[in-house]
Amino acid sequence: MDTQVVDIVVIGAGPAGLSAALYAARSHQKVVVLEKDVLGGQMMITAQIENVPGSIDNDPFALTDRMVQQAKQFGAEFRYEEVTSVSIDGPFKTVTTTQNEWQAKAVILATGANPRRLGLQGEEKWTGRGLTYCATCDGPFFQGLPIYVVGGGDAAFDESLYLHTLSDDVTILYRGAKPRAAVVLQERAREAGIKVVLNTEVVSLEGENDLDAIVLRDNVTGEEKRIKGNFGLFIYVGMEPNTGLVKGQLALSPEGYVEAAETTETSVAGVYAAGDVRYKDVRQIVTALSDGASAAIHAVKYIEQQDAQ
Ligand SMILES: Cc1cc2nc3c(=O)[nH]c(=O)nc-3n(C[C@H](O)[C@H](O)[C@H](O)COP(=O)(O)OP(=O)(O)OC[C@H]3O[C@@H](n4cnc5c(N)ncnc54)[C@H](O)[C@@H]3O)c2cc1C
Repeated sequence: MDTQVVDIVVIGAGPAGLSAALYAARSHQKVVVLEKDVLGGQMMITAQIENVPGSIDNDPFALTDRMVQQAKQFGAEFRYEEVTSVSIDGPFKTVTTTQNEWQAKAVILATGANPRRLGLQGEEKWTGRGLTYCATCDGPFFQGLPIYVVGGGDAAFDESLYLHTLSDDVTILYRGAKPRAAVVLQERAREAGIKVVLNTEVVSLEGENDLDAIVLRDNVTGEEKRIKGNFGLFIYVGMEPNTGLVKGQLALSPEGYVEAAETTETSVAGVYAAGDVRYKDVRQIVTALSDGASAAIHAVKYIEQQDAQ
């Protein structure tokens, strides 16, 4: 395992990491961005993005590519490496990946979040076999078939609108009485003819090789109903922060998010938390971009102060 030395390690190449890379590289820092999966993070499991100012083509792939190219123009380096552990106490931080050991003066944690599971038996087994968390990736497999979308937030409604371009038969299942999604999305869903079934949750999954039945429970009457056949089940019930790497090293909220101020400074000097991984109110691309900028600006200031000592 080689040891590489840089000024700043950015962990994660979602919008927060990409913005941090641009700002840090533009400030003449030697920056590496470590990404375990795909550049773009959650943007790449989003069918279309309408609310990033200035990006009017709504295309997540093009938006990601432009962000990556812009950061590269200023010298940011991108590596496909999964970070397996970090040691962040003291002036030099060590970030260990599956391939290398990186040493840096500052670390920007931009590891984002992953889709929350329903927590039902067999969920893992049927993931990719009728059950999925990504409409963009898997929607086309269910072209023309009934599609059930679980959730009541923006993601559930937004992705249902995309899925409706593939199937006329899209139903949103929400366990509560009043979905949390933005009114504009709820209106669009209604206009498109997407069915919204309230007070209803999926209580079990059934099938042999593929998922071929779900049991729904009406949370008001307690009545259960079994739906059988060839269909797709898309889950959008929230996200869980990727903070396993820093558990026990950084202060975390009870929900597991990193406690960090608007400056993105964490409980450890020289370590910054940007984007969805940070405890905050609004988790969107623009707020991730803003966090990334803030993290890089404060990391650069911190490095300058350390170097001056
Ligand atoms: C279905 C869906 C639709 C959405 N639609 C919109 C929308 O229309 N508009 C909007 O503004 N927002 C939308 N969002 C939210 C938005 O995508 C997120 O708020 C944003 O992507 C968060 O950016 P991030 O950089 O903090 O984290 P992420 O995008 O989650 O990126 C984190 C990155 O870190 C990487 N990573 C994690 N752990 C490691 C590790 N150990 N080593 C290396 N890499 C690691 C991950 O692979 C990932 O690439 C949507 C989200 C979803 C799920």
